[in-house]
Amino acid sequence: MAGAAGFIGSHLCDRLIGDGHEVVGVDNFITGSRENVRHLSGRPGFSLIEQDITETFDIEGHIDAVMNLASPASPKDYLEHPIETLEVGSTGSRHLLEIAQRHQARYLLTSTSECYGDPLEHPQSESYWGNVNSVGPRSCYDESKRYAEAITMAFHRKFGVRTNIARIFNTYGPRMQLDDGRVVPAFIDQALRGEPFTVFGNGSQTRSFCYVSDMVDGLVRLSGSEERYPVNLGNPVEMTILEFAERIKRAAGSTAPIEFKPLPEDDPRRRRPNISKAKRLLDWEPKVDLDEGLRLTIAYFRQKIELPQT
Ligand code: NAD
Ligand code: UDP
Repeated sequence: MAGAAGFIGSHLCDRLIGDGHEVVGVDNFITGSRENVRHLSGRPGFSLIEQDITETFDIEGHIDAVMNLASPASPKDYLEHPIETLEVGSTGSRHLLEIAQRHQARYLLTSTSECYGDPLEHPQSESYWGNVNSVGPRSCYDESKRYAEAITMAFHRKFGVRTNIARIFNTYGPRMQLDDGRVVPAFIDQALRGEPFTVFGNGSQTRSFCYVSDMVDGLVRLSGSEERYPVNLGNPVEMTILEFAERIKRAAGSTAPIEFKPLPEDDPRRRRPNISKAKRLLDWEPKVDLDEGLRLTIAYFRQKIELPQT
């Protein structure tokens, strides 16, 4: 698993190890952290290799599946590392596909709702081709993932690699980095420190938030399926960012005010997955509601920033 030391990757490692699989984690720690998988070190069936997947490498022994979760994923991270982001989706994806081909293994790509850009179709279904600005600040991520999808389909069509493509929508939970700039850690950090909530723009842009255990379950189901075309995975409960700030405020018991900041360029105005394909093919839909997910996530961050438990 590439990106094993990241937020979603580390939870997927937990799930696979729990299910009795052996996992070789690969990560260059550009945005992930050894801390995320420290609890797995020494566990039979888990190993972690420091490796940049944009360099060529191989894994010894039999491999059933190659899972590609490697990529900076938060806007702050990919804006800081635009070249690395383009390289990991392109060269890195190619290297992992070559490993899957050599080992006759399955291949799972974690793509993104960013493939839809600032969508003109709402909610977004997999058949929508998207509205992406190829030269805007987010293009390093969006186009990298679109290329990653294209090369995945090419390896399937040309070499018969058994591929799956997940289009992941906003996912949250423990082990996100507190300072990665994404809205969930940002608002929770602000709530726990009693600082104002930084809402970008007027907060009318929408998102929908999927708890990480649901996402991991979707990825596991998808990686066992024969569907080659992209499948949306995400929570369809949509809300404005202003409403979301209020939810976190309430959940964390903060009384701090909301401060409006400039809206970043090309910030998608609306986003909500149509998950009927995942429901139909994988019998999957999210189970953890926002209150429960926020409770678990806030508890994690509270511990992390060493504030007294309340
Ligand atoms: P993350 O940044 O926590 O994890 C990504 C991991 O990949 C990190 O551990 C990082 O060090 C590693 N990595 C990056 N470049 C690498 C390279 N060249 N070689 C080896 N390792 C490398 O992000 P995440 O939120 O866990 O996202 C995981 C995957 O899911 C990403 O591919 C991301 O694009 C996708 N995704 C996530 C979300 C979300 O809301 N979290 C939404 C859409 C798509
Ligand atoms: N956002 C915000 N305040 C923050 C961080 C993010 O209002 O401190 C907004 C951001 O403009 C976007 C939404 O929250 O509209 C989700 O941002 P995030 O970076 O989590 O992910 P995105 O969905 O944009 O990839």
